[in-house]
Amino acid sequence: MTDTPRHAALRRRLAEELQKKGIKDEKVLDAIRNVPRHLFMSSSFEPFAYNDSAYPIGANQTISQPHTVALQTELLNPQPKERILEIGTGSGYQTAVLVHCGATVYTIERIRELHLQAQATLNNLKYKAICKYGDGHDGWNDIAPFDRIIVTAGAEEMPMKLIKQCKIGGVIVVPVLDNGTLKMLRLTRQSEEDFTQEDFGPCAFVPMLKGIS
Ligand code: SAH
Repeated sequence: MTDTPRHAALRRRLAEELQKKGIKDEKVLDAIRNVPRHLFMSSSFEPFAYNDSAYPIGANQTISQPHTVALQTELLNPQPKERILEIGTGSGYQTAVLVHCGATVYTIERIRELHLQAQATLNNLKYKAICKYGDGHDGWNDIAPFDRIIVTAGAEEMPMKLIKQCKIGGVIVVPVLDNGTLKMLRLTRQSEEDFTQEDFGPCAFVPMLKGIS
């Protein structure tokens, strides 16, 4: 598969749709207009790549819905040169969006097959990200702390070991289960022990699982 002017036109339309759904950050919309989502999916889904929907990527996982990717990126508000840790590489699409925003992205995936595939896709498309195979609950201690952390799978409870790898003053965007409902949360680390929390409402993600596969 290649990228064509037709795909670029579909991306511009998708960015307009996301804008209507409330996404305001111009750098996020610019990433949506530029990152070729169809190249992060199996060719059988190519006709649907610029619909605002999640699709299977193998191993029972999905590429996140574009609105979810845009919302999480807007909440994270990555700045150029910042070091960002992403949990749940999946297809690598969210990773590429963060790289497009100018961040240095470290990303962890627990399913080997997806880790290898996303690493190859990002590499082929020249999105420079550092991919690791492992359990995101452990974070990436050797190279912590990070300016920002984004989790793209739903956590059963707050992953404390992971969020403690964020700098003081840094931001974490993580979907966490609360009374049976997955909520999109943004935490800001205020001090060694204190995090403030904002709730951006219900959301849908595949579960954040323990261990590797
Ligand atoms: N950002 C991805 C979303 C993929 S779905 C994309 O846009 O394609 C979430 C991904 O999180 C899945 O690939 C799943 O395997 C992975 N995941 C779930 N639990 C994890 C964990 N504990 N550590 C790392 N990755 C995890």
